[in-house]
Amino acid sequence: MKRRLLNLLTVLSVLLCVVVAYLWARSYAPQEFVCRILDGKVLLLYVTPVHARQLEPGRQEYTNVRWVVDRFRAEPRNRLAWRVLGFEFVVGPDFRDSHSHVLVGLPFWLIALAAAGLLLALAHARRRYLVRPGLCAKCGYDLRGTPDRCPECGEMAKST
Ligand SMILES: [Zn+2]
Repeated sequence: MKRRLLNLLTVLSVLLCVVVAYLWARSYAPQEFVCRILDGKVLLLYVTPVHARQLEPGRQEYTNVRWVVDRFRAEPRNRLAWRVLGFEFVVGPDFRDSHSHVLVGLPFWLIALAAAGLLLALAHARRRYLVRPGLCAKCGYDLRGTPDRCPECGEMAKST
């Protein structure tokens, strides 16, 4: 169980690494980066300035996120359009084209799972840190001077 969770976390962190590396490389491109949430996922969008204005509430050109994103998804010249389990990856025509776009969708379940996994890992690390010989099992205080009772929290030492 623990091994499986660790493997899953490893896969997720590799995936996150790839996405971050991709976004990093893309950050040097002249296109604009827009982040929106829709349909249970976080959408990372690389779009032309025209589309960026359509995605920005308050702008005169503002359309709405769903309309713009659905148009990206339905674009027949997309070089890649892949969707599975809430993940989404859409690569539009070449960026010299005015209709180009890149869309990366990350499902919220992934983010929630990653957060829960991190929490579990921290709890596990904390427990491992606290339950060590010579330290109070409750608060982790050093008990070398007072082995019977923790002066910090009052916990009685368990007889082993
Ligand atoms: Zn204590």
